[in-house]
Formats: sequence, C-alpha cells, structure tokens
Amino acid sequence: MINIDPLQRGGLLTPEARRALAEWGDGYSICDFCPGKLEEIKKPPIHDFVYGDLPAFIGVDHARVTNGARESMFAVMHALGKKDGCVVLDGNAHYSSLVAAERAGLDVSLVPVSDRPEYRIDPEGYAEIIEGQQKSGEEVVLAVLTYPDGNYGNIVDAKRVSAICHEYDVPLLLNCAYSVGRMPVSAKDLGADFIAGSGHKSMAACGPVGVLGVSEQYHDLVLRRSAYNKNKELELLGCTARGATIMTLIASFPTVRARVLEWDREVEKARWFSEQMESLGMIQMGDKPHNHDLIFFEAPVLYEISKHAKKGRFFLYKELKKRKIHGIKSGLTKYFKLSTYQLPEDDLRYVVDAFAEIIATVG
Ligand SMILES: *Cc1c(COP(=O)(O)O)cnc(C)c1O
Repeated sequence: MINIDPLQRGGLLTPEARRALAEWGDGYSICDFCPGKLEEIKKPPIHDFVYGDLPAFIGVDHARVTNGARESMFAVMHALGKKDGCVVLDGNAHYSSLVAAERAGLDVSLVPVSDRPEYRIDPEGYAEIIEGQQKSGEEVVLAVLTYPDGNYGNIVDAKRVSAICHEYDVPLLLNCAYSVGRMPVSAKDLGADFIAGSGHKSMAACGPVGVLGVSEQYHDLVLRRSAYNKNKELELLGCTARGATIMTLIASFPTVRARVLEWDREVEKARWFSEQMESLGMIQMGDKPHNHDLIFFEAPVLYEISKHAKKGRFFLYKELKKRKIHGIKSGLTKYFKLSTYQLPEDDLRYVVDAFAEIIATVG
C-alpha cells in the first residue's frame, strides 16, 4: 500500500523504533535506574536526550518529553493561567489547542483567517486581537501560532508574529505538531518562547508522545517543582512518557535529525504533486506555491462523479483502495487532504496516474 494519510506519514516508525517498541514494551521498563526524575535516567539514555540532543534540535534552552503536542500546550497554558486570562490563537488552530486553553480555564480569541482559497493568517492580525482583548480588560497570557496548521499546511511568518506579540509583552508558543521532525525548526531563530511538537505526528515515534521547549525566561514558572515532592515538575504531573513511547522517540532521533535536512526536496515534491493534481481539475487550497507536504484539495471533478457513481461518495475511497492507495478518508470527494512526506517520486507519480485513471474511467 501507498499511504498518503497526513496524520500518519511522519509517524511511521524507523526499524530502530520498531525494535525499541518490542524491547521496552513492558510497563515501567525504563524505571529500573530512575533516581526520582524521568529526565535524570541515564540508563536508558533519557538524560542525554532531554538535556542534550532535544533542546539543541528545537533551539530552546530547556526541553521535556510529554505525552503529546496537546499536553505540551496544556502544561504551558496551565502554568501561565490567570483569572480573566485569555489565549490568542490563529484562526487555523487545531482543536486540541482550544481544548487545552479551555481546560486551563482560559478564554480564547482567534486571529481571523482570510477567505478561500488561501486561508491565510496575517501576522498583523495578532496586534489587532491582542489590543482588543487588552482593552476589554482580559489579560492575554499567551499567543499561539500553529506552524503549520493541520488543515492547509500553511506556514505563517512566525518571526513577525513573535515580534508583534513581544511588543505587547505576550509570550508566543509555536504549535509545531506538523513541523518538528519534518523540517528544521528553531524556537530561538523564530523568536518563540515555547514550542510544542508531536512524536507520533512528525518524529517517527509510537505515540502518544510529544516534546516541549521552554525558554530560560519561563523555566522557573513552567517547570516549577511540586511542594510535596521536590523531584517532580508540577505541570508534567511528575513523569510524562514513562515507557516504550519515549524509547521509540529516542531510537528514531538520529534518523529524524538527518531527515529534516532533506526538507527542501520534500517541498519540491509537494509542489510538483500539487501541480499535477491541478492539471487534473483539482484546486489546491492554502499557500501557493506550497511550503509543506500537507496539502488540501478542493476536487469539484471528483464531487461531480460522486453524484452518479455506483458507490456514491464512497467511490473514491474504493477506487483508491483497489489501486493500493490509502489515506484519504472514506466518503470524502469534494475536499480532502493528503501528504507527500517521504514518498518516493515513483510512488507520487503512481498516485497522480491513479487519480487520472479514476477520473477518466469512473467519470
Ligand atoms: C495532530 C495535531 C495536534 C495534536 O498532536 P498530539 O501530539 O496528538 O497532541 C496538534 N496540533 C496540530 C496542528 C496537529 O496537526
């Protein structure tokens, strides 16, 4: 099968991670030599990963492994939370960032998204929304930019967003669930105070597992220790990924660190694929030319076919499955997203030819 599911392309395990999954699958298997704090475990080498490789990789002063991108976002929001506080998010934000804010007791305000077909976030929108919130008497405790968003794969000028947020003394979190592990990302270069990443989305790890980056300025607040147990970091509930999940993240790391350097090639492939699909009558939404492997299409040509196809709107899923292509949700024809990440050119050509054939024969 060729898998084009955007949720799954970046989380496919490396052979090393697959072995780690079997080796560390037993409950609490990593805890034999724990001195009382997950990050301090030297055998297996969690200490070196969390204090060395990981913060260097994402360009932060301090890093932690969490149970997912949403857990990373929640930890930060909860730590910064205040009565009458609110979070400003981009209008393309993932539902989990809104849920995290809600659970942290914070109001949410969204930076508007432009209309079809681009669905752009204008960085200047952050100034407007932050100012509006502040005037209304709410304190903006955090801004979030989804980098890129999980629908259109749009990449916003994060440096500009961080500069604007800092003008208002608002810290910025970059939600990098779709970027850390695929493309080079450095919180320091982009001016972000926090970074959240997803191991099972983009770092070839078995989830749930995520990463969190914190700048020096916020270390004492976000990573503060429990009053009852001085070894345990409160927002992380003491220990986060305490088993096979963290071991798969570590096992894949050398491959992941190397693969982000191939990012330009991934963008070229995504652009080529998008052009081919457009020549078949589909319309790519979002940034154009596109800057990410996650691509959203509007497909009127397939929608028309679904109106009279024998299987109705399920025809596309069935026709693709027949050709051993998996990853477009069953029942979708008019709009769908897919990913070209790490697929060889021959496979991408095969997928394009399959769409051409389906349009020609079923349509
Ligand atoms: C997948 C995704 C998430 C959630 O990641 P988890 O690690 O599963 O919590 C958050 N934000 C975006 C943009 C995503 O695509």
